Amino acid sequence: MAFRDKHLIIGAGPVGLAMAKAMKQHGLPYDHVDAGPGLGGNWRHGLYENVHIVSSKRSTAFADFPMPAHYPDFPSAAQLLAYLESYARVHGLDAAIEPGRTVSAVRPLVDDTWNVVLDDDEHRHYKGVIVCNGHHRDPRMPTYPGQESAPLIHANDYRAPSELQDKRILVIGGGNSACDIASEAARVGASSDMSLRSGYWFLPKTFLGRPLTDLPIWNLPVFVQRLVLRGVIQLVIGDYRAYGLQRPRQKLFERHPTFGTEVLGYMAQGRIKPRPDIECFDGRTVRFRDGSTGEYDLVVAATGYHNSFPFLPAGMIDVKNDAVQVYGSAFPPDVKNLYIVGSNQPRNGFGNIVTPAVALFARLIRMQDEIEHPIGAVLQWQGDPLPETNLMDPGAAKREIWLSNRMLWVLRQQSRRLARERRWLGPPAQFIEDDASPAELPDAVPAKRETAAA
Ligand SMILES: Cc1cc2nc3c(=O)[nH]c(=O)nc-3n(C[C@H](O)[C@H](O)[C@H](O)COP(=O)(O)OP(=O)(O)OC[C@H]3O[C@@H](n4cnc5c(N)ncnc54)[C@H](O)[C@@H]3O)c2cc1C
Repeated sequence: MAFRDKHLIIGAGPVGLAMAKAMKQHGLPYDHVDAGPGLGGNWRHGLYENVHIVSSKRSTAFADFPMPAHYPDFPSAAQLLAYLESYARVHGLDAAIEPGRTVSAVRPLVDDTWNVVLDDDEHRHYKGVIVCNGHHRDPRMPTYPGQESAPLIHANDYRAPSELQDKRILVIGGGNSACDIASEAARVGASSDMSLRSGYWFLPKTFLGRPLTDLPIWNLPVFVQRLVLRGVIQLVIGDYRAYGLQRPRQKLFERHPTFGTEVLGYMAQGRIKPRPDIECFDGRTVRFRDGSTGEYDLVVAATGYHNSFPFLPAGMIDVKNDAVQVYGSAFPPDVKNLYIVGSNQPRNGFGNIVTPAVALFARLIRMQDEIEHPIGAVLQWQGDPLPETNLMDPGAAKREIWLSNRMLWVLRQQSRRLARERRWLGPPAQFIEDDASPAELPDAVPAKRETAAA
C-alpha cells in the first residue's frame, strides 16, 4: 500500500500503541515509527532505573488489557515495559513499528496530505499524521544567575543512584521525579536538600491499604475529590508545615499532585532538608531566597517538561500554559489530517483514559474523510473551548468521551452547515514549504489545490 493511503503514527509509547490498536480495529491503515530503540516510550528509554509508577497498576493499565495479577500495586519501569510489550504482541502491533526512526519534519501539502521527513533524509508522503510524541521529553530548565558555573543537570538526564553516591545533592522542585531523586539521595548521597519555590500537594500513595488512585472518587466532581483528599491528607500526613514545608497556595489539582510521603518521612528524620527558592549560583555554592547558602556537588532540576512538536512548522500548534491548543484534545483547527494525541496529563494513570479516548479519535479520523473542513475547525466553529491547562480530570474526560461518541451525528451536521457557510481552502500557505514539491516525494502530489479537488 502506498504511504499516501496511510496515516503515520509518531511515537510508540503507551499512547502511540493504544492509537495503533484503535486504528487497526477501525480498519484504518497506518505506519508507525519511534525514535527510540523499541516500543514502550518513556518506559523503555526515558526514565531513571529505579522508577515505579505512582498511579496504581489498575488505574494505569489500558482499560481493555489489565496488568498481570502477580504485579505489585505500583510496578517498576521494567514491569511496565514488559506489559506494553505484551500489549503490542497480543494485538499484533509490534511488527509494524520501525524503531530508531526520528521524524525530523512534517509539512502539509496543498491537498491536505503530508510530507514527512525521517532522519533528515527519507521523504514520505502520507495521508495524515498522528503525533504521539509524549509530554515528558523536552526538559524545562529554570534560569538563575550564575547557573553556567553550577553542577546542574535536569532530572531527564538522571539515570541511576550511582550518580548521587556520596555527593551533596540539591533537587529543585517537589513533583514526583523530584521526590524520587531526593529520596534516593537521602539513601546514598552525602546529603539531600530540596528547593521548593512554593507549597506542593503531597498525597499518600495508599489509603486504608489501597492505592489512592483506586479509591472510587476519581469520576466524581472535582470539588468532591478535593474534599475527600483533603480529609485523607489530614488523616495520613497532617499539616505540611510540621515537615518544614509551605502550605500550597493553589487549589489541589491546579498543578499535578505529588504522590508519596517518602520525602516527608525523610524530612521528619532530618535526612532531607527543605530549602526555599534559589536566588543564584556561584559555582558549587547556592544562595537561597531566605539568605541561607548551601554547597552542592550536584543540583538536579526536576522542573518539568514542555509540550513541544519540533518537527512541525513553527506556529502551527500553539501551546499556552502547557496546554496544547487543539480542540477535542487532538484536533487542530487550521490543518486537516493532523492529530495531536496524548499531550494532556491525567491525574491518575494513563490507561483508563487513553483507551476510550483513542477509540473515539479513530472514529473521528475515519469520519474526517466525509468532512470538508478539519474536524478541529468544525469543533471551533460550534463553540468548543480550547484547553486552559494540560492537567486532565479523568472523570470529566470520560464523561466527555461518552457524550462525544453519542453526538457524532451532530458533528457531521455541523460540518455540513460549516461547508455551506465557507469553503475549506487548504492549509495556511505559510506552512506549505517549497521543499514539499511533488518531485521529491515518492507518490505524485498535485501542485495546486484546484488539481487536488478535481
Ligand atoms: C518520572 C516519571 C514518572 C511517571 N510516572 C507515571 C505514572 O506513575 N503513571 C502514569 O500514568 N504516567 C507516568 N508518567 C508519565 C509517562 O510519560 C506516561 O506514563 C507515558 O509514558 C506517556 O506515554 P506517551 O506515549 O504519551 O509518551 P512517551 O512514553 O514519552 O512515548 C513517546 C514516544 O515518542 C517518541 N518520539 C518522540 N518524538 C519523536 C520523533 N520526532 N520521531 C519519532 N519518535 C518520536 C519517543 O521516542 C517515545 O518513545 C511518568 C513520567 C515520568 C517522567
